[in-house]
Amino acid sequence: MSPRTAPNLPDEGLAIGFQPYLPVEMRWERAVADGLPLDVSHAFGIFDRTLCGVQQVGMSPSDYGWLPQLGNACRACREAAGVIDDRWPQAMRGEDARVSVARRL
Ligand SMILES: [Zn+2]
Repeated sequence: MSPRTAPNLPDEGLAIGFQPYLPVEMRWERAVADGLPLDVSHAFGIFDRTLCGVQQVGMSPSDYGWLPQLGNACRACREAAGVIDDRWPQAMRGEDARVSVARRL
């Protein structure tokens, strides 16, 4: 899956401009909705959709983090999370980058 065809990924400028960098396993919350199967863990994305593009009415992020390394993590969500993670320049990761971004605001 290329970054441009991945569903529901935040715009590059949006992602970098408004969110501090977080590692994949700290960034996403597990999506919960009546219609979602319980045996697969999807990451809550944006606009009531999972990262992989599943939309369910009433979907919300749970209180639990979405952990891509767990066996029940949705594969497509994992790929999308990886694509987003790859967009972050190494220079913008880590504590120093977070401080300098904050100073500019
Ligand atoms: Zn998914």
